[in-house]
Amino acid sequence: MPPTVAVVGGGISGLAACYHLLRAPRPPKVLLLEASGRFGGWLQSTRTPEGAVFEHGPRGVRPAGAAGAQTLHMVSELGLAGDVLAVPGDHPASRNRFLYRGGTLHPLPSGLGGLLRAVPPFSRALFWSVLRDLLTPPGTEPDESAHAFAQRRFGPEAERQRGSVLLGMALPHGGRGAVPAVALARRARAERWSQWSLRGGMESLAHALVAFVSPRGAELRCHAPLTHLRRHRGRWQLTLPDSTVTADHVISAIPAAALARALAADAEPLARELGDIEAASVAVVNLEYRGVALPVTGFGHLVPSSEDPALLGIVYDSVAFPEHDGTPQGTPQGTPGTEGTPEGTPGTPKGTPGTPEGTPGTPSLRLTVMLGGSWFRQSFGEPSAAPPELLLSRARAAARDHLGLPGTPTRAILRVQQDCIPQYTLGHWQRLERIQRFLQDRALPLSLVGASYGGVSVNDCIASARVAVGRLLGTPPDAP
Ligand SMILES: Cc1cc2nc3c(=O)[nH]c(=O)nc-3n(C[C@H](O)[C@H](O)[C@H](O)COP(=O)(O)OP(=O)(O)OC[C@H]3O[C@@H](n4cnc5c(N)ncnc54)[C@H](O)[C@@H]3O)c2cc1C
Repeated sequence: MPPTVAVVGGGISGLAACYHLLRAPRPPKVLLLEASGRFGGWLQSTRTPEGAVFEHGPRGVRPAGAAGAQTLHMVSELGLAGDVLAVPGDHPASRNRFLYRGGTLHPLPSGLGGLLRAVPPFSRALFWSVLRDLLTPPGTEPDESAHAFAQRRFGPEAERQRGSVLLGMALPHGGRGAVPAVALARRARAERWSQWSLRGGMESLAHALVAFVSPRGAELRCHAPLTHLRRHRGRWQLTLPDSTVTADHVISAIPAAALARALAADAEPLARELGDIEAASVAVVNLEYRGVALPVTGFGHLVPSSEDPALLGIVYDSVAFPEHDGTPQGTPQGTPGTEGTPEGTPGTPKGTPGTPEGTPGTPSLRLTVMLGGSWFRQSFGEPSAAPPELLLSRARAAARDHLGLPGTPTRAILRVQQDCIPQYTLGHWQRLERIQRFLQDRALPLSLVGASYGGVSVNDCIASARVAVGRLLGTPPDAP
């Protein structure tokens, strides 16, 4: 084990890397560098005074497969088992997903077989249509790219198969691989959970990781963006705006493009490969209504680009996690998320004033509308300059037109999450092989973890950190 390990990036991948490093019998000195003013990366949850939780990033984690079980093991060790909110297999949010097409919601067939067959009213197998739609940026070679992606995902790397944000809505549950015998994971299997969240929202996982690693000697630094990374006298030299630090090993848990910008000129071929891993932006609009009901019950619905290229889909958050609706105490005060957003939060927090409607004290209904993705620029222009009112009105209109909800929700929170979903376009896996070869040929003590590489789901990110640390420690990746 190298004496000093610098982990760059304090999202779930970087935090999980610190956690695994510090569980080692003789842990190294661990330094975590995070550019923004908070830890968690895309794990962003807003809690309202009424106890409602709005997720601006991931909202549900799959328990299936070895990676899912390992995450639950970590959750238990962090003392969060009592906070887990599980969605059992027979729950409507597990069983029902929809596709909005031709102005109507169509139930998606359950099970992989149903997705791979053409099922009326669809002229082609839903899986391919939806996969192509969600993952292919306009202008690339869609079929080949999607096909290669699916081959990868459904082949040896099956546990990573449900990586995409919305793809999880379309794919059935399951998974394989060595699953550790952990009580929470056993419960998840017995109850056939399709997904889980945490009572305090997904961001509380990041908080728990910080609470775990801090007292174990990790040095955690916010407002510490890596600007330059180079080899110097057999060690890494990491340049920050106000200082320079050195380390024997670097675990990069920042987006590939951010690492590319920091690399020295002599790593130019590596920087070029990393810089080519693109990411799409998503506008996440959390909507809350009072005293209204959905016309259908389920996880949510997808919107194919043939129907509306700007709209990815709507997640019915209240169905899966009613615990996050909060206790209705009256008319909401103000709008969470519009103020008090931690400085340096990835994405652009914007919002509208809450528009109270409905009877105070009536139950709330929470939805998340996702817009943009590969089609963001085409639909809304530059993510950094996309007009908030346009995004909000598109989201409100979608909820009204697709679900018959009132045009004015009681609360609306908008976050434009810039470059948040890495795009595994044609040639991605070959690129990863070239990157690995470059690192091996030069014997560079650099590990690459996180969503840019082998899977974007929370489980994938945590697994990538665990595997990287396992390699450093010389332990098998499936050891809990
Ligand atoms: C809207 C949305 C919904 C999602 N929904 C789900 C879901 O329901 N289920 C699921 O499993 N997954 C979901 N995902 C995917 C998953 O949440 C992400 O892929 C995952 O959180 C990425 O974690 P990460 O640590 O790899 O990257 P990040 O979260 O991007 O963390 C990287 C960190 O590095 C920091 N950083 C960047 N540059 C530098 C630098 N130069 N120096 C230092 N620090 C730097 C950033 O500030 C950030 O904190 C969703 C993602 C999004 C955006």
